[in-house]
Amino acid sequence: MSFRGSCHCGKVAYTVDEDPPTEAMACNCSICRRKGALHHFTTPERFRLETSRGDIRTYEFNKHVVRHHFCTTCGCAPFAEGTGPGGQAMVEINLRCAEGIDLEALKVKPFDGASL
Ligand SMILES: [Zn+2]
Repeated sequence: MSFRGSCHCGKVAYTVDEDPPTEAMACNCSICRRKGALHHFTTPERFRLETSRGDIRTYEFNKHVVRHHFCTTCGCAPFAEGTGPGGQAMVEINLRCAEGIDLEALKVKPFDGASL
């Protein structure tokens, strides 16, 4: 099974080739607390961007290990790309932008990104 996600206007949309997650991670770092994202992490192999990268802008800061993407039209940030702790490529899915997921039912695990 797979699930989809998108920005508000639809110019950034993707499919993730795995079952919809039942857990999410909430991070308290300087950018996550502002965006309010509920994170799910997947691999580039399971992530299919269905729209043009031309509709994406990217924000990086600090160590530049995460490419924080957002839609140039509506400003939503439905996914990000980066490098995991083991050096592997990873994709962050913002579950608030995913379809068919009951956000209230997600088991949300806090992550203390502010202390990193
Ligand atoms: Zn948009």
